[in-house]
Amino acid sequence: MDFDFPPDDDARRLALREWLDANPRPSPDDLLEAGLIVPHWPEPYGLGADPMHQIIIDEELARAGVRRPSNPIGIGWAGPTILQAGTEEQKARFLPGLLTGRDVYCQLFSEPDAGSDLASLATRAVRDGDEYVVNGSKIWTSGGHHATYGILIARTDPDAPKHKGISYFVCPTDLPGLTMTPIVDMTTAHSFNQTFFDDVRIPAANRIGEENDGWRLAKVTLANERVSLSSTGSLWGAGPSAEVLLQLVRRGGGCPDPVLRDRLAALHAEAEVLRLNRLRTLSARLEGRTPGPEASIQKLMGDEHGQHVMELAKELRGAEGMLTGSGPPGDIPPSMRSGATEVNFERGQFPDVEPIWHYGFLFAPALTLGGGTFAVLRNIVAETVLGLPREPDVEKGLTWAETRAR
Ligand SMILES: Cc1cc2nc3c(=O)[nH]c(=O)nc-3n(C[C@H](O)[C@H](O)[C@H](O)COP(=O)(O)OP(=O)(O)OC[C@H]3O[C@@H](n4cnc5c(N)ncnc54)[C@H](O)[C@@H]3O)c2cc1C
Repeated sequence: MDFDFPPDDDARRLALREWLDANPRPSPDDLLEAGLIVPHWPEPYGLGADPMHQIIIDEELARAGVRRPSNPIGIGWAGPTILQAGTEEQKARFLPGLLTGRDVYCQLFSEPDAGSDLASLATRAVRDGDEYVVNGSKIWTSGGHHATYGILIARTDPDAPKHKGISYFVCPTDLPGLTMTPIVDMTTAHSFNQTFFDDVRIPAANRIGEENDGWRLAKVTLANERVSLSSTGSLWGAGPSAEVLLQLVRRGGGCPDPVLRDRLAALHAEAEVLRLNRLRTLSARLEGRTPGPEASIQKLMGDEHGQHVMELAKELRGAEGMLTGSGPPGDIPPSMRSGATEVNFERGQFPDVEPIWHYGFLFAPALTLGGGTFAVLRNIVAETVLGLPREPDVEKGLTWAETRAR
């Protein structure tokens, strides 16, 4: 790590303070017009801001208590893909609604028989004039029941090799023939759905990129998904962090049990490693380098760390921790709640799962599955970071030695 944070009298900081004085309560449209929602995007949606400029904007918005619109799948994953591969007409049609949070997005990728091996998906989209007729089923559609649009990948050429015959669409969720069935998970929240397509007609104008080039675009979405899932907070950037738990223990007079104290110390060390790795990523960005293995390592370690935080929070409560709704003693002070947690609760996404510790404990097993399972990420780190041999390509009937020789 080798960088200084921008000084207090940086000209860009002073200009933004002036703007915030004139616009103390900016609406999502004001923020969009000023390029402050995604400052690193090019104009007219962002400011083409370099990482240092982004840090300034983040700091100043936080100082002024201004929140950006929340639309994680839309802004974090769909947006960069549309920006990269959409036509100018598609960008103008989809991006403003997506950025202001007016149009909430969901992700229609996984299928009952295609998860880690996503490219084996079977949902079909058949061209019929100016439309595609879609049939099939998607699963684990998070927040689909709140969404206006879904990013959909479907097979348009069943005869092509599996990665080659897929196309990428922006699919309105109110089209005739599209239905969603709720899936209630063990937290008791209705956060997922199974989505069924029964002769759903999607306008061809909603296809992003070329026909059959959807796998390349899905990889753009997934790369952004892994980066956004690896930000701060123990539940994919949301929820209380290890630091919040440690503060609660300190405020409650410490922990008399030596074994639990040991685990608290280990949790602190783990959180520090993650913080330093985040700074390494930031340092790489500030030096104009594309972060390499740091992002995969961050997701891999961060997911397991989230589980450690939540498990320890329950165990600190002793036998009482087994009860529904229990967590460590003491409320999380408002200043330590992450924005994402509050937004989730404000949206009513998790209506009956307070308090957050109990919810987090039940949700934490999902962390090492969603956005790439721990096993798949370990394979990526093993092959690309440690240079270990690739898995045998069993689909092509190759042995390990034959795979390695290719
Ligand atoms: C909280 C959450 C939210 C989600 N939201 C969405 C969403 O909004 N939209 C969406 O489309 N999907 C969503 N998903 C689905 C998610 O993308 C899949 O769960 C994930 O891709 C894994 O697929 P799978 O569940 O079918 O498991 P599988 O791929 O069937 O894996 C089963 C087990 O096999 C292991 N495994 C698989 N392949 C390998 C391998 N090559 N080497 C070693 N082990 C392997 C896995 O690690 C796992 O333990 C969500 C999942 C979660 C948990």
